[in-house]
Amino acid sequence: MSINWFPGHMAKARREVEENLKKVDVVIEILDARIPHSSHNPMMDEITRHKPRVVVLNKVDMADPKATEAWVSKFKSEGKYPVALDGRHNQIIKKIEPLAVKATAEIFERMEKKGIGRRATRAMIIGIPNVGKSTVINNIARKKGAKTGNTPGVTKQQQWIKAGERMELLDTPGILWPKFEDETTGRKLALTGAIKDTVVPLDEVAIYGMEFLMEHDLERFNRFYNIDVSPEDGIVEVFDAIGRSRGLKAGGNEINYEAVTNRLIYDIRNGKIGRYTFDTAEES
Ligand code: GDP
Repeated sequence: MSINWFPGHMAKARREVEENLKKVDVVIEILDARIPHSSHNPMMDEITRHKPRVVVLNKVDMADPKATEAWVSKFKSEGKYPVALDGRHNQIIKKIEPLAVKATAEIFERMEKKGIGRRATRAMIIGIPNVGKSTVINNIARKKGAKTGNTPGVTKQQQWIKAGERMELLDTPGILWPKFEDETTGRKLALTGAIKDTVVPLDEVAIYGMEFLMEHDLERFNRFYNIDVSPEDGIVEVFDAIGRSRGLKAGGNEINYEAVTNRLIYDIRNGKIGRYTFDTAEES
């Protein structure tokens, strides 16, 4: 999905999210497990206010398992309800539903004390583009008989999806914009595919990814590209090595740097080299 985020769009997106928030008991924020900090829009905290929050660390299949554990602990310590998963798996509802129910237990206890009978926990999904919101929703909705039909008071296009036994989910996600805190955040967003390629210069994205890999996992980096570079080598030497190894030539013996750039981004973005997390829980 490509959205150009101008102030008008942001205001509209925020309004839409705020409107939908009124209908739900719990917010399910989807983050990219590789960049839990950079894929979080800080405005979430402001607009979701006191709603309990389930945090889905999605794309966990491409993230560093140790780092994911640290992120899960961090979110727990903040009073949130985190879960790490691969949104493409069709059993995800079994992970999300119990957490949403747990997160809203107090709300329903209070209601029961007032004599209001238990109804389904209502939830909505929120996140920046490309973190996997639609994947998660479609996955949950794909179950037979999932749709509950239009509910009075809800705009016609929107529907509640029956999500498990005790949860209902709005079928349209809330979309917030990616927040560019600094250049590194932008590079991480581009490297993981959260933002369009044109927003951040591609060479900077590739170099960021390459330096990250050389610092964190040099052996695997060398093995993957069948090269033998060392931390002392400069950017051009590393690009040359990859270009030669992968046959990315511009004609004659010249290396096609654009092709190397694209290859590096593709391989890292799609988890081809290994599982990496670019935001550390300790620093965020
Ligand atoms: P949305 O913009 O937040 O709705 O994101 P999408 O649901 O369209 O997902 C963006 C891309 O990420 C798609 O190509 C999905 O197939 C992919 N994707 C979603 N969840 C996962 C996941 O858990 N693991 C992996 N590897 N890919 C995922």
